[in-house]
Amino acid sequence: MKQILSLAFVALLAACQTAPVDTPIADSPIPVPQAESAPDAPQPIPGQQWLYGSAEASVAMRQAWAGIAGFVEAKAASGPSHGVVLAPGSMPEQPSFLACEGKPLAAVFDADETLIWNLGSMGYFTRAGIGFDPGIWDDWERTGAGKAVPVPGALAGLDRIRAAGVTVIVNTNRAAVNAAGSVDTLREAGIGDFTHGETLFLQGDAPDGSGKDGRRAMIAGNYCVVALVGDQLGDIADPFNDKSLSVAERRALTEAPSVAGLWGNGWFVLPNPVYGPSIRGGFDDVFPPETHWEPTPQAEAEVIN
Ligand SMILES: [Mg+2]
Repeated sequence: MKQILSLAFVALLAACQTAPVDTPIADSPIPVPQAESAPDAPQPIPGQQWLYGSAEASVAMRQAWAGIAGFVEAKAASGPSHGVVLAPGSMPEQPSFLACEGKPLAAVFDADETLIWNLGSMGYFTRAGIGFDPGIWDDWERTGAGKAVPVPGALAGLDRIRAAGVTVIVNTNRAAVNAAGSVDTLREAGIGDFTHGETLFLQGDAPDGSGKDGRRAMIAGNYCVVALVGDQLGDIADPFNDKSLSVAERRALTEAPSVAGLWGNGWFVLPNPVYGPSIRGGFDDVFPPETHWEPTPQAEAEVIN
C-alpha cells in the first residue's frame, strides 16, 4: 500500500510540473490512491491530507497569519516611506521599490490557497479521480460560493489589518469574466466584500495573462503596498516564475542577499504542498548527489529478510 501511495504521489508531482503558473492543479489525470478497506473509494493525496486536514497545517497557517498581521500593524504605525512591490523593470537581483508618496496603505493577497481553501473543487477532483480540468475549475469559480473555507488564521489576521487602517486587496488569477462568482465565494468564506477593479484584481484586468506584475502596478498606482502574500512566488513578483530557472536557480534567487531580508518582512509565502510551480524537480534536484546514502549491507540484509 505504501508503494501504491508513493507511486500515485510521484505521478502527481510529475503532472504538476507542467501546470500553468497559477493553475490549481495539473491538467493531466492523476491516479488516486485507493483505500485498502474500500478499493473503489478515492482517498486524499498526501499533500491534501497535510494541507486541508492536519493540525500541523492549521498551526502553520495561524502562525503565518499572526506574523503577517503583526508586520502590517507595525508598518501602519511607523508610516513607511516605500512599499514592497518591485518597481516596473526592477528585478530581484537588484530591486527597487516605489515611494509611498502619501498614498493610503494596502496589503495585497492572492486568493486560492492563501485566503481560501478550495475544498469543494479539490474534493470533487479527487472523488472523480482527475487531477484538474479547466472547464470544471471555471464552473467552480462561478458557482463554488459556500464550499470554500477561510485559511486558518486569515479571518483574525484580516480583522487586525483592517483595524490598522490598511486596505485589503485581492490579486488572483481567477478569471475577470467570473468576477461575480469570486466575489460571492470570498464573501461566503467570510473574507470580505470586494469590488472588481478597486479591491479585487483578476486575470484579464492587465495584458500580461497569468502574470501579476501588471495588476500589482495598477494597485501600486493608488496604494502604498506594505505586504504581498501568496502561496506561490508569482504572488510576489513575476521574475520568480521565469520558466528557464532550474529548481536550484529559482530557490537561489529567493536567497539572494538583495531580497533575502524581505521574506517575512513584507513578502510572505504560505505553504501549499498540493499544486503550483513549487511542485517540480527530479531526483537530484530534491536529493542532491552529495547527500546520497546507502545503508550498510547488514542493515539492508535485515530489511530484505
Ligand atoms: Mg494561490
